[in-house]
Amino acid sequence: MDLTKQVKKIDCHVHPQFAGGPERMRGGTWPTPEQVREAYDTLNIESGVLMSCLAPEHMHDPISSRDAQAMHEAYPETFPWWFCALDPRMAWNDPARVPDYSYYIDFYRELGARGAGELQAHMMLDDPRMLGLLMHCEKKNFPVTIHFGKPGVGQGLLDDLGLVRLEKVLQQFPKLTLLAHAASFWSEISADVAEETRHTYSTGPIAQEGRIAVLLRKYPNLICDISANSGYRALSRDPDYTWRFFDEFFEQIVFATDISSRQTIEKTAVQLSSLLDDGYRAGNISEKAYRCICRENALRILQA
Ligand SMILES: [Zn+2]
Repeated sequence: MDLTKQVKKIDCHVHPQFAGGPERMRGGTWPTPEQVREAYDTLNIESGVLMSCLAPEHMHDPISSRDAQAMHEAYPETFPWWFCALDPRMAWNDPARVPDYSYYIDFYRELGARGAGELQAHMMLDDPRMLGLLMHCEKKNFPVTIHFGKPGVGQGLLDDLGLVRLEKVLQQFPKLTLLAHAASFWSEISADVAEETRHTYSTGPIAQEGRIAVLLRKYPNLICDISANSGYRALSRDPDYTWRFFDEFFEQIVFATDISSRQTIEKTAVQLSSLLDDGYRAGNISEKAYRCICRENALRILQA
């Protein structure tokens, strides 16, 4: 049997929401759990990790921890896992007196949450408030999914060219499982990234590996979330590099879609699935790497 049919994927990053909220002003809105299920059946995805989403800078209809929990309970086979909406600004966070986030982690874990995210607060990644939150996530073995953003624009944690603050965080919290995504992260797949291009969808061949490879080698707790256009563009710009990247780092890469609208179902989720399936069928991805990226790494991280 074709391995790509046999191995059911786990989607590590998905944003459904119950029907009834407003549309985005530019049109479209979150897909419903039923629409995600339909897409999963078409794409041979078994289930997904439901991400909450609160960042007010770009949010038209937030997905709270409570929404995520309710969808998990209503559709347990489609969303066996969910991440809660912790935020480094909540609970009067003050670096001099970091709130006991472990209390909230215990609360949400009891309800079934398996991690925090996606984290999108618009502040430096190593802001003392963020470090306070991450300290508790590490202590409680609670994975985090982080959206890397552009200073002054929209949402997301901020870093410098070369992901130097990410390295500091990975060093400081070696036991924290940190899933990274978005254009400002993926642009660092190539050494040619510059201040002017690091927040854009990077293009062109990769002559020299970027900081992502260096960090993956040094920090086994860093996991690449390949979701969205950002992940797809970074991994389709130079297929030869992508196959080498998968070959070396397959234990630190997870399949994910970031489905957040009908358009992302029809385009991005299909493209990301095909990248892996076609790559395997053409002999560019080993069976071991395919199994790990599509499914097994997620199960390990989620302790399923
Ligand atoms: Zn994101």
